[in-house]
Amino acid sequence: MADRPPDPASPRYPASDASPLVDAYGRTIRYLRVSVTDRCDFRCVYCMSEDTSFVPRSEVLSLEELERVCSAFVMLGVRKLRLTGGEPLVRRGFLSLVRGLSRHLDSGMLDELSLTTNGSQLARHAADLAGLGVRRVNVSLDTLDPERFRRITRWGRLERVQEGLAAAAAAGLAVKLNCVALKGVNEDEFDRLIGWCGERGFDLTLIEVMPLGDIDGAGGFSRAAQFLPLTLVRERLARRWTLEPIDYQSGGPSRYVRVRETGGRLGFITPLSESFCQSCNRVRLTATGTLTLCLGRSEAVELRPLVRGHPDSDQPLLAALRAAIRRKPDAHGFGTTACPALAAAGRLMNLTGG
Ligand code: SAM
Repeated sequence: MADRPPDPASPRYPASDASPLVDAYGRTIRYLRVSVTDRCDFRCVYCMSEDTSFVPRSEVLSLEELERVCSAFVMLGVRKLRLTGGEPLVRRGFLSLVRGLSRHLDSGMLDELSLTTNGSQLARHAADLAGLGVRRVNVSLDTLDPERFRRITRWGRLERVQEGLAAAAAAGLAVKLNCVALKGVNEDEFDRLIGWCGERGFDLTLIEVMPLGDIDGAGGFSRAAQFLPLTLVRERLARRWTLEPIDYQSGGPSRYVRVRETGGRLGFITPLSESFCQSCNRVRLTATGTLTLCLGRSEAVELRPLVRGHPDSDQPLLAALRAAIRRKPDAHGFGTTACPALAAAGRLMNLTGG
């Protein structure tokens, strides 16, 4: 039962459940990000401590359970699924989840199935992902310098990520690089990254570092000291590049410009310096089945008991999703008193899904 795709004609999904998910502020939820595992083969300094501990496997949703929750969201109008982690490509059987979910692309109920990855395993999997209907990948890359890359990721090898990027491009996947902007760490590299991405036809998004994750000043890393407002970065970039505002929307929080000199798109994700909450259309599912209603708030709902407690009916799950969405906060609490509370609650980026 649990591995069936949603079928509007099925008694498990009566027609009354098919209206979209709308929150208390009138925002329609069309986008689900799913952390398929909290494990990762990197230990990026702003995300995880080197000796981080992972959740017990018994608490992690099986691939079938993940597919079931994702399918319930699709049934309720979610049009875009992004699989993330941890590192999604280190989860055993990950491609079978992609295969299962790709049925919703075939049925027309889903517009996009994509993933966010560190790229370390992409060389092996890019062609299969493309064959399963994945059209875009976001690859996290904060530097083009191998030594710096090792310092930031602790365990990563830049060369492997570059091979992964080449394989993704060869497989016809649209590639976007995500780069966390870190003061004094990689702020001298944005010009180079813009040129590099432009030459390869990759989009690039710069992201402000957020006060999340399993960090306590690890390895000399201090988020407060390394926070770099992208409003400032944009001003600096505009001295060298012609940044033309464009209407393009990827469905996420990025605001894009076109770099006239390269023709490439450049996005800015500015959770701290500029709010984008009024247009938020997203919620997140953790690998353990917690539905996180906002990355920057503690409101969350545990779905695992509903999934495991009702193997033959999704009615309790669907009802819980509808009720949960009404509790989605109007705005994140970064930069407010909600933040220390979040840190205390241990909101881990790898578990929650970036
Ligand atoms: N392993 C995959 C990857 O590297 O893309 C997916 C998970 S990772 C948590 C997703 C994204 O979250 C990455 O782009 C990473 O740079 C970003 N990230 C992690 N911690 C962050 C933080 N504290 N602030 C901003 N972005 C963060």
